[in-house]
Amino acid sequence: MKHTKYSAKKAPAQKSDMDLMKLIVKFDTDEKCRIALEKLRWPDGVRCVRCGSEKISRNYKRNQFECTPCGYHFSVTAGTIFHDSHLPLRKWFIAIYLICESKKGISALQLKRVLGVAYKTAWYLCHRIREAVKDADTTLLGLESGFVEADETYIGGKAKNMHKARREALAMKPGTKRGKSAVVGAIERNGKVRLQCLGADHTVTKEALRAFLKAKLADETKVISTDEHTGYVGIDDDNTIHVSVYHRGGEYVRGLAHTNTLENVWSLFKRSIVGSYHQLSMKHLDRYLDEFEFRFNNRQNPFLFRDTLLRLLSSSNLEYKDLTAKT
Ligand SMILES: [Zn+2]
Repeated sequence: MKHTKYSAKKAPAQKSDMDLMKLIVKFDTDEKCRIALEKLRWPDGVRCVRCGSEKISRNYKRNQFECTPCGYHFSVTAGTIFHDSHLPLRKWFIAIYLICESKKGISALQLKRVLGVAYKTAWYLCHRIREAVKDADTTLLGLESGFVEADETYIGGKAKNMHKARREALAMKPGTKRGKSAVVGAIERNGKVRLQCLGADHTVTKEALRAFLKAKLADETKVISTDEHTGYVGIDDDNTIHVSVYHRGGEYVRGLAHTNTLENVWSLFKRSIVGSYHQLSMKHLDRYLDEFEFRFNNRQNPFLFRDTLLRLLSSSNLEYKDLTAKT
């Protein structure tokens, strides 16, 4: 019999309603982008952003609205992340599409080349979009299938690339993993993922794991599957079973106990760092994780582009000075 390679049957992914060609043709002018944003922001007709009145007149020349009762002038991007940007809206649209639809993300450097903008503009744009998709979904894990995997990993920080002083300072801290940042994650099987950075030079403590699981998992979670990390000991309770595999002993799957779904997420995230973000700054790791989480959780959302626009319309601006502030 001819040998056929086994492949797991997956539910067919719904096709996205947008592709790059469609996007470029559909939104070839800023005017068309503004009309699209207006329909998304005010599906039932324009309302004053200050007093909420529906009595509005349009100033077509200045692309503004004027509120009749309160006299306020505003544009479709007023008070949103798009506001005060010198970047044409059609370039924003392409950037949003590339960031949310490319499986592994896109770096500021790539975006700079694609859009023909300054690196600083591209970098700031990426971060504003990341900030807008942060905490897009805060539903707890464990409510659907009841099976959740939790795991931890370390990102970045090769000792040989590190400044000598930093390397030496780290060596003095017992238990740190060579300047890497600890990241914890939980994923519901066939469901969503939640990721969180525990900070640079941080070892994963029991307290940090507990706090993360408490914040992200529903009480209804039936089974939590982890590795042998001692931080997970005792996370079971009356209605939640804890199962674990012993990675150090070479055990990866035992019945329902495994963390393979989350291992795949780590590997995808790490590949996206290597492929797209050559110089991922640890300071911004949380934002990269947020972006990744959003993309991953929306991997089957055919209206991802539209939904991302909606989020950007409801997010307030992230100031450049806040982003570059030394923390
Ligand atoms: Zn008004």
